[in-house]
Amino acid sequence: MGFAHDYAEMDGAPDDDAYIEVMRQYARAGNAAKHLANWIQGRGHVAEGKVGPNTDDVLMIPAAIEAGLGELGKHGSIINRELGSNFRLSMVTTDLPVIPDKPDVFGADVFCESCQLCSSACPPDAIFREKQMVRGETKWYVDFDKCVPYFVDNKTCGLCLVVCPWSRPGIAPNLLKKMAKRI
Ligand code: SF4
Ligand code: SF4
Repeated sequence: MGFAHDYAEMDGAPDDDAYIEVMRQYARAGNAAKHLANWIQGRGHVAEGKVGPNTDDVLMIPAAIEAGLGELGKHGSIINRELGSNFRLSMVTTDLPVIPDKPDVFGADVFCESCQLCSSACPPDAIFREKQMVRGETKWYVDFDKCVPYFVDNKTCGLCLVVCPWSRPGIAPNLLKKMAKRI
């Protein structure tokens, strides 16, 4: 599940307003996951709500991509066709039988090949401009040994999410049309 940030609150990231907005959306995401897990448990199934970024036993972004929330962007976060990267994730793991969704491929990965906005904006230069070989797979990659210390020192960051053109209000529909002609 994705929970949109208020873009105006995130626009100055990393600042106090962005930090508060991130915490607000993590709280909303956590509450929704808890309520959904409770609903499933009430029907006799195992269910556990989880909210990012500390999910311990499940990598949330790969699961969210498989669930159709969007494509992996150069900045290491998901790009959703409506929200861009301006959102937070939560999830429910369960033994409830469900019909799986499919990954949603709409051109974000192709777009990232010719865009450098996030890698140029990242203060500690943590975002690789080209895809890297990661555990046998070539993919966009962020050096978290650079990102996390900067994130901790500033209480938050998210600058890469805010500068991403897909995140800017009103921009995604036009980008979708543009990419539909290329993929
Ligand atoms: S969160 Fe900040 S430090 Fe981390 S990759 Fe994004 S811009 Fe760079
Ligand atoms: S800012 Fe550009 S390169 Fe970075 S994730 Fe967004 S579209 Fe991709």
